[in-house]
Amino acid sequence: MKLVSTRAKGEEASFKEALLSPSTKDGGLFAPLVLPKFNGYELKDLSYENFALKLIQSFEFGEDEAIKRALKTYQCFDNEACPIELTKISQKLFINELYHGPTRAFKDMALQPFGVLLQEFAQGKNFLIMCATSGDTGPATLKSFENLEHIRVVCIYPSSGTSRVQALQMQSLNHNNLKVFAINGNFDDAQNTLKTLLLDKGFKEALKRLDIELSAANSVNFGRILFQIIYHYYACVKIGENVDIIVPSGNFGDALGAYYAKKMGAKIDKIKIASNENNILTDFFTKGEYDLRGRVLKKTLSPAMDILISSNIERLLFDKFKDTRTKELYEQLKTQKFFKLSPNELELLQEDFEADFCTDEQCLNFIDEFSKTMLIDPHTATCLKLLDRQKTAIITATAEWTKFTPSMYEALYHEKCLDEKAAIIDIAERFSAGVKMSILDLFDADIKQDKIYEAKSLKNEILEWIKQ
Ligand SMILES: *Cc1c(COP(=O)(O)O)cnc(C)c1O
Repeated sequence: MKLVSTRAKGEEASFKEALLSPSTKDGGLFAPLVLPKFNGYELKDLSYENFALKLIQSFEFGEDEAIKRALKTYQCFDNEACPIELTKISQKLFINELYHGPTRAFKDMALQPFGVLLQEFAQGKNFLIMCATSGDTGPATLKSFENLEHIRVVCIYPSSGTSRVQALQMQSLNHNNLKVFAINGNFDDAQNTLKTLLLDKGFKEALKRLDIELSAANSVNFGRILFQIIYHYYACVKIGENVDIIVPSGNFGDALGAYYAKKMGAKIDKIKIASNENNILTDFFTKGEYDLRGRVLKKTLSPAMDILISSNIERLLFDKFKDTRTKELYEQLKTQKFFKLSPNELELLQEDFEADFCTDEQCLNFIDEFSKTMLIDPHTATCLKLLDRQKTAIITATAEWTKFTPSMYEALYHEKCLDEKAAIIDIAERFSAGVKMSILDLFDADIKQDKIYEAKSLKNEILEWIKQ
């Protein structure tokens, strides 16, 4: 199967091409024209790895050997046999824990195999992989590529937009092929800088002269999305009956994976989109409007969802309304900072989606309430706002609580956390929760890279770094 551009008729790429070069010429994204049907329910006894392989094979991309090697990376998760943990809370409520990988966030689910695939496809060519991060993509990308030859990674993040653990995970890495840039600005600024550089001909040519190709590890890359379908489908199969899936959403990559799983055959009733006070997706799914006018990004307790430009909505619009309409809507968004779907289009979206948002205060209350059952991080906590206890539901747990200890402490102890490391240990003891040494060790790590840059200067800074 080929992937096609969400905006232009005719532009297409193989899976391998789209992974190595994720931007289309017209600013769109690569996506499947039609999703394959996959009967996962007949495969319910397969291991996660074999289930994943079968699901990917239904796309008929070829590349089976590379994909098999990529899926082996799941063996580095807590449970070697299965990267996810599906915890049954009650007869009707399940938590799909996706944070049992090396950097303790769901980004590892896609980025661990993605690193190996990219290296396989690069075939010894030099690559620069860029990513913009609100906190979790960065560490996961750096981790995935830390020992891969010929591949350099640059990671751009908002200097005061991540948690301390997330920043330390990036700043403490000491590999010659990895570089992080903290910028003055928020995540949308980081993502815009990335998108601009990916489309910058001069930048690409300068890299070419150094014999380096350019790619990106954000969920604009279809190679990420592919691996984010599997865990939703696999959880549905394990449960068997129809479910709602609740997803805390930022760039909409995780939720898009759930939508693709549904289209492929997973028995999902509603995909429920949880946001924080940056609730542009709530308005989108309830009113059909995507309206950036007058909106200012707020910093919240769930920083991975502090986003206004949610890239993967474009793939959803493409799947629902095809390329001509997608192009029209995105051109309008660019010129007028706004688009509105027709009532009929909104109805089609609402067949699959519901949405709501959570204030920080509600988020802290949800963490506190749910702590009687288990500890959930501030992103996962936003899902509780959308929980309908009459229906069978899966909450998608996207990060381990240890990455957001100050918020956890405030929620659980109703006071400010003064010493983060001590607080982690304290909470872990009180709630009998495990903590990885890889998290605790960060507080004593050597900081290698903590300078703050202006977004405009990055093009030169990156080229300078590469030439060293
Ligand atoms: C990235 C992230 C999200 C948002 O996922 P998207 O795919 O961008 O919607 C939610 N929670 C956490 C902890 C994350 O790291």
